[in-house]
Amino acid sequence: MKDHIRTRYGRLMGVVLVALLIASSAVTVFAQRTQFITIATGGTAGVYYPLGGAMAEIFNQNVAGVNASVQATGASVANVNMIAQSQVELALIQNDIAFYAANAQEMFQNRIGNLRGIATLYPEVIQLVARADAGIQSIADLRGKRVAVGDAGSGTEANARQILAAAGLTYNDITVRYLSFAEASNNLRDGHIEAAFVTAGIPTAAIQDIAAQRDIVIVPIGADLLEKLRADYPFYTGVTIPGGTYRGVNNDVHTVAVKAMLVVRADLSEDLVYNMTKAFFSNLDRMAAAHASGRLISLDSALDGMPIEVHPGAARYYAEVGR
Ligand code: GLU
Repeated sequence: MKDHIRTRYGRLMGVVLVALLIASSAVTVFAQRTQFITIATGGTAGVYYPLGGAMAEIFNQNVAGVNASVQATGASVANVNMIAQSQVELALIQNDIAFYAANAQEMFQNRIGNLRGIATLYPEVIQLVARADAGIQSIADLRGKRVAVGDAGSGTEANARQILAAAGLTYNDITVRYLSFAEASNNLRDGHIEAAFVTAGIPTAAIQDIAAQRDIVIVPIGADLLEKLRADYPFYTGVTIPGGTYRGVNNDVHTVAVKAMLVVRADLSEDLVYNMTKAFFSNLDRMAAAHASGRLISLDSALDGMPIEVHPGAARYYAEVGR
């Protein structure tokens, strides 16, 4: 009898053990197959954030085993640092900032070695927004004014500093406020600042917001300033904001732009990056639906202004489609 019980007990334990083994290996297989992808974007009132969301959806629906999500951040410089510290897998950043990161220039003391390109995307327009009642018609008029220069760790902030310098000003000549686009918009509305720099695709939600509530001007950055800027920083190009982009700004405004790009950590596998690149370019209609700037993304221009080494997975896709 006792032997019988022992045998049955032994069998039961055997079954439990096998079941446990199957369950744990299933967990292992699942864990190996799910690749979590965090996309670092920018503030919620910018353009990176909605476009990053569309991108995450594209990956989730088209790349097997990928679980992608977005993170709101301080934008370009902060995003590069998150890639450098392996806190995120993908990021949207400006192409000028990518170049400085890869070459230890400007705000980067050291070369960021694990940054690779997937694609350049659309122009990011440097928009100096001012309250119409502040009397600011040129960069030089910012002297003595309270100015939002972008979030700490943004590409916008670097652009603000460089553009002020080209016009002969430094942060000592203005009252500097480090604010996200949404905060800058609220502060303009409430009269706490006179002007704000915004580097983003157009139209930018934060500027649409303030334009709906207050009279604003977009201050031009002309050809002379562009020439000075380009001598030191060749990523700037001239661009026109068409009249009517924002309520009350009916004239075309000449200013400067850089390019948005999608970057990835170098250590992601070639297959994974290939699959994501392919999914991305096969679903550009989704990007176009998420924001007007998404309509400017194309395979044809994906390597224009590419300032860093392209990830081998993306390069494989471009070779395959003859780009
Ligand atoms: N280009 C901006 C920056 O890096 C962010 C733009 C956006 O959030 O759309 O500062």
